[in-house]
Formats: sequence, structure tokens, C-alpha cells
Amino acid sequence: MNYINNDFKRIIGYIWGFILFFAPFALFQKAILFVLGQHDTPTIHTLCLRIPIEHILNGKFFYMGTVAVISTIILLIVAFFFGPLFCGKLCPAGALPEYLSKIVPNSLKIEWSKYLPMTALRAGFLAGFLLAPMWGGYLACSYCNFYVFDLFINYIFCGYTVAFSGSLILTGILWFFVFGIFTKGGRGFCNFFCPVGALQSLLYVIAIKFGIAKWLQINSTKCIGCGLCVAKCPMDAVHLTDKTARIAIYQCILCGECMQKCPSKAINYKRKAVTANEK
Ligand code: SF4
Ligand code: SF4
Repeated sequence: MNYINNDFKRIIGYIWGFILFFAPFALFQKAILFVLGQHDTPTIHTLCLRIPIEHILNGKFFYMGTVAVISTIILLIVAFFFGPLFCGKLCPAGALPEYLSKIVPNSLKIEWSKYLPMTALRAGFLAGFLLAPMWGGYLACSYCNFYVFDLFINYIFCGYTVAFSGSLILTGILWFFVFGIFTKGGRGFCNFFCPVGALQSLLYVIAIKFGIAKWLQINSTKCIGCGLCVAKCPMDAVHLTDKTARIAIYQCILCGECMQKCPSKAINYKRKAVTANEK
């Protein structure tokens, strides 16, 4: 029952995310534009979080659109204090392949963590994304899954079509199929290619190190090594080592699926490290 409640809450959150950020609604952008006294028609590009992130290190951050800069600052402050909640609770572009992957048989899904060091690749990609603009390289738009999702939604709701470029078609295939519904958990694109998620997680890990943010911890005394959390994690962030679950915090999006599924209540969300004797 708890699991159903968590799933239900998450789905409501993603619907809210869609209404807040994506046209034709884009309520979040409209609210900021209203406060600024501007009358532009907002789209997902008004909000774009990737381009400001791309310019954090090369001094062009504050030359970005006002809505995008304000949104990015809010996103990063929330991530620092509370974790990557945008990913785990609001981003419909991440949620769509995750939920549709549930109807694909597990035998057809790739478990990338068996072959690749996920955390290192995620961090390496973010480093490349942040450093590339210093040598004139820009990656933000060429593989934007937010934009592909936006086009998809515009087509469904408004009948609006665009000619897909080669890179958008490739992005759609990678986001939705290869690293989406055919990846364990459905969030391979989030894991490997999303700088918005990777930067939030980096700030979150720093906040944890300084004792500022709460994080998910396994009580090794209570864990019975059943592996239910491993199977449920959409980010492939939980693994069993010596019959005890371990969470890779840099990949965790705080979706709560593992906590809801754990039969022995071994997963805690705390600021202080859990001790083995803790109840
Ligand atoms: S570790 Fe738990 S909370 Fe974190 S992404 Fe995986 S299932 Fe969600
Ligand atoms: S679901 Fe709970 S008991 Fe089972 S492996 Fe995960 S943390 Fe351990």
C-alpha cells in the first residue's frame, strides 16, 4: 500500500512538473515573467537549465535569459540543501521512459552498472560539459531530451510539428529507447547524459559531506539482503555487497522507491550517519 502511495505521489509530482515547466502551460515561467513585468510567451527554452549551467565556469552565466538564470539558481540552492528533488519528483522528461520501462520485460533491459562505472562516467560527463565552453565547445542543445520531450508534447497537445534534425532523432532514440525503456530503471539518459541532474547531485554530495543535507542510508544490521531495493531503483543506484544493500548517493534522485519497498525498514533518511545498533 505504501508503495502504491509513493508511486501515486510521484506521478502527481511529474504531472505538476509538466504543468509547471512545459508549454502550453509553463506556469513557472509565466509566474517569473509576471513578477518581472515581461509579457513573452514562455516555452521550455525560456527556462532552459542546461545553457546557464554550461556557462557557469566561463563567465557568461549572467548573460543568459533572466528566467533561466533565476530558475537555475533556485534549482541549485534546492539541490544543495535537499538533494536532486527536481529529478526525483518533478522532471517529466526523466519520468516518461522510467514509467514506460515498467512494461518492457526485464530480460530485454540492459543493466549498465554491470559493464560501466556509472558514478565515474556521470561525474566525468559533467566535468566535460562544464569545461568544454572554456575552449569554445558547446553541448547543451545538441542532445537535449527536455527539447525532444517538449516537441513530443507539443505535437500531442497542439498538433505542432517540426522537422527533426539528425541530432534530435539520435537524442530521441538514446533518451527514449536505448537508455530509456531498454535500460534497467529507465533512467540511463539521466544517469549518463544529463548535466542538470549531475550538477544537482554534485552539490548534494558536497552538502552531505558538510553535514548539511539528509541522505539515504542503509542500516546494515536490519538489511536482510533481499535485493528488492536493487530491483526497484530507477537510477540503478543500489547494489548488494556481501548481502547488504549499498546506495551510490551521487546517482540517487531521492525518489523513495527503495524505502517504500524495503520489508525490514532498513533504509533511513537522516543527516547523521546511521549506526549499526540504531532501531
Ligand atoms: S536509491 Fe532509492 S531513493 Fe535513490 S534513486 Fe534509487 S530507489 Fe530512488
Ligand atoms: S530492500 Fe531493504 S532489506 Fe532488502 S536489500 Fe534493500 S535495504 Fe536490504
